[in-house]
Amino acid sequence: MRDWHGLHVLVNKSNPLPADFVPKDLVIPEVSFSFSEDHPRKYLRREAAVALERLFAYAQTMGIYLVAASGYRSYETQAAIFANHVERLGTLGANRESARPGESEHQTGLAMDITSKLVGFKLVEEFGSTPEGRWLATHASQFGFILRYPVGKEKVTGYIYEPWHYRYLGENLAHQVTESGLTYEEFLLQEVNTQDD
Ligand SMILES: [Zn+2]
Repeated sequence: MRDWHGLHVLVNKSNPLPADFVPKDLVIPEVSFSFSEDHPRKYLRREAAVALERLFAYAQTMGIYLVAASGYRSYETQAAIFANHVERLGTLGANRESARPGESEHQTGLAMDITSKLVGFKLVEEFGSTPEGRWLATHASQFGFILRYPVGKEKVTGYIYEPWHYRYLGENLAHQVTESGLTYEEFLLQEVNTQDD
């Protein structure tokens, strides 16, 4: 039985969450959001929410203004989003840019999409080359987050480059993964191989 509530859980297109998985400890982090209404996508699991607050506060002291755009997403919401992508892009295109229900890291409550004013609070590739995007890539791991879908790793992660998508792993593991220069998938595989030696 996999521990779907574990902070280190791997969720991707080969490791989907059960349809009935809902994180137990969702809270709204006290950070700036790109929208004002009360919406489930403001939520993160408690530990990730506290870490996000610290990350955003620290960024602000360095003149970097980050804005949260999308956190927790239920199985049902992801199903609707995927269906919408299929309508626009076809199944193949939808699969590159979106996830089938159960396959989205957002269902864990441990992922947050982050943006800034410079890109109109949108989730776009250009964010990666803004001061905010670059600052995040450098400092997020200090607060327990990793850039989950780096550039050029589509074959490994199943996703195009997403400079806005950050995943909470806790400071220790986030630091190790970031230092390794590997994706989370590659990092876990390497761990297994090392144990086999
Ligand atoms: Zn995301």
